[in-house]
Amino acid sequence: MFEQNIRTKRREELVNITPLVNQALKKAGIRSGLCVVFVPHTTAGVTINENADPDVPDDIIMGLKKIVPLSFPFKHGEGNSDAHLKSSVIGSSVMVPVEGERLCLGTWQGIFFCEFDGPRSRRVLFQFIS
Ligand code: ZN
Repeated sequence: MFEQNIRTKRREELVNITPLVNQALKKAGIRSGLCVVFVPHTTAGVTINENADPDVPDDIIMGLKKIVPLSFPFKHGEGNSDAHLKSSVIGSSVMVPVEGERLCLGTWQGIFFCEFDGPRSRRVLFQFIS
């Protein structure tokens, strides 16, 4: 298993971690199999989406803000319930097939770490199954 630290800069932010996943894949030396990207946090997540137009990650953040209100009669005393909900909506892991020592991502796809309660120091785990 491989681990990477990420320092996020804003409360909500999508960070393209595709280069980090490719680095880990190279180190793992897997030719064919499966790559699992896992985020061990309750107010962050990981997703695959468009990597070409930077407006798309911005729109995902904006859309999630619309779906999950910041202020609601939430019970959790820490004041970050919206971040917990967004984490569950997005999810904590993604799987990508690996073939020919490469991630089988589509032309426009990238893997994004999703920060919902930053800025913070975060961890991302990569596991390769061959
Ligand atoms: Zn909390």
